[in-house]
Amino acid sequence: MKTSLLILLIVTTVQVPPTTVYVCSGARGKKYHLRADCRGLSSCQHKIIKMTLAQAQKNGLTLCGWEK
Ligand SMILES: [Zn+2]
Repeated sequence: MKTSLLILLIVTTVQVPPTTVYVCSGARGKKYHLRADCRGLSSCQHKIIKMTLAQAQKNGLTLCGWEK
């Protein structure tokens, strides 16, 4: 019983990989982007940072307007 529970736990963990989002650094970097080729990022004059969705939301970032 314990073994099957452990396997279920591992499978569940694998099925939920952290979502990577893209954030333009700089003063206007208040949005996160789901796609690296988003048109909202193409105008980014700063460095594009990769982070997880959870990190972006923790930093108070919101989803970019082009991807709603
Ligand atoms: Zn975007």
